[in-house]
Amino acid sequence: MLNHESLVQIDDYVQYIGPGTVERIMKKARPLQDLHVVNVNSTYYGGGVAELLGSMTILMNSIGIKTGWRVIQGSPDFFSITKKMHNALQGGEINLSDRKKQIYEEVVYENAIRTHLEHDVVIIHDPQPLPMIKHYRKRGPWIWRGHVDLSQPNQELWDYLRPFVDRYDAVVFSIPEYTQPVNTPQLFFMPAIDPFSIKNHPLSDDEIEERLAHHHIPTDLPLVVQVSRFDTWKDPQGVVEAFKIARQEVDCTLVLLGNVATDDPEGPQVYESLLESQEERIIILSVQDTALVNALQSRAAVVLQKSLREGFGLTVAEAMWKGTAVIGGNVGGIRYQIEDGINGFLVNNVQEAAARIVQLVKDKDLRQRLGQAARETVQQKFLLSRNLEQYLDLFSSFETNFTLRNWS
Ligand code: UDP
Repeated sequence: MLNHESLVQIDDYVQYIGPGTVERIMKKARPLQDLHVVNVNSTYYGGGVAELLGSMTILMNSIGIKTGWRVIQGSPDFFSITKKMHNALQGGEINLSDRKKQIYEEVVYENAIRTHLEHDVVIIHDPQPLPMIKHYRKRGPWIWRGHVDLSQPNQELWDYLRPFVDRYDAVVFSIPEYTQPVNTPQLFFMPAIDPFSIKNHPLSDDEIEERLAHHHIPTDLPLVVQVSRFDTWKDPQGVVEAFKIARQEVDCTLVLLGNVATDDPEGPQVYESLLESQEERIIILSVQDTALVNALQSRAAVVLQKSLREGFGLTVAEAMWKGTAVIGGNVGGIRYQIEDGINGFLVNNVQEAAARIVQLVKDKDLRQRLGQAARETVQQKFLLSRNLEQYLDLFSSFETNFTLRNWS
């Protein structure tokens, strides 16, 4: 096991999950020592997958599983096509031309040529690198981890992708609603957050003030916040509309903090269109400052994640962990994170979002009650140690077969 004092160790989780659970996880890790695992996705930065991999790869190494992370490269037209696929997997339309398929498969092939995967376990994330499996002789199980909201995928696209998925040994989606008609066994692991990261560790009031002041965010009125990639699925326009309705009844400041992932070419356009809404009490920020994400989620009276589709909202779990009241779109994974009226609110449209903003800004006790329940929910269900244990169980289920099966 790695023992580097500045790295998070599974022992650090004792305070949240207890010594028994930590011991159980360590016991499961023991037979897997030195297993060589690699993750492949399409961005080192921006979005939940990169966030998850950053913490999960370190935690896995700390318990003795040699876990790597590779990122595929692609031209702008490749990422334009894969973003269209992402949108269509979440229910949008796509013109799936032969030209698009050709660019997609060729760029993936080129990545396969220059990416030497000789690991015991290969985990491929999301549709961008999905066809890589075609180009390798397997040395162990290949897992496809699909993170998007697959509640209503575009049928034509799914039919095209399915033969790639069928080659995998296991498929992991976030929730059972995303089950697909494939031959591969399907499992469901919800993502989780790293409570020790800069984004999620506790901040003092002074640290929060300092970060907000640095970005000229006023704190004289309650803050209503959404932190999200600039993506139409996150419905930033709907947030602005809801805020405008709400402020007819309560005084508050809206902050929309966003970033653009390197594999998402639509981000800059979404950001530009939002700037039209900017005014004194509607602040649109595009900066990369992890401590600012933490400060906003910690200080906000209300955090919104008004998504129209959401595989699983890491931002929802992050804000809940800080004991903040969260209003989430009643879609996808958010439904598994927020129990309406118990640890947050679920909303179906702009009007409902506006009404909940008003209610929460007016009622401090309600905010505290929901926030406390939210924090407990995350402690019980959405810390990375739980997700780690699910991966260990999955690896172990293959382990007995590693030497017996012919993986090619
Ligand atoms: N994020 C960030 N800065 C931003 C916007 C988002 O660090 O300006 C992070 C956010 O805190 C979360 C991740 O990006 O960790 C987004 O994950 P989520 O699952 O909510 O959505 P995705 O982008 O994967 O669809």
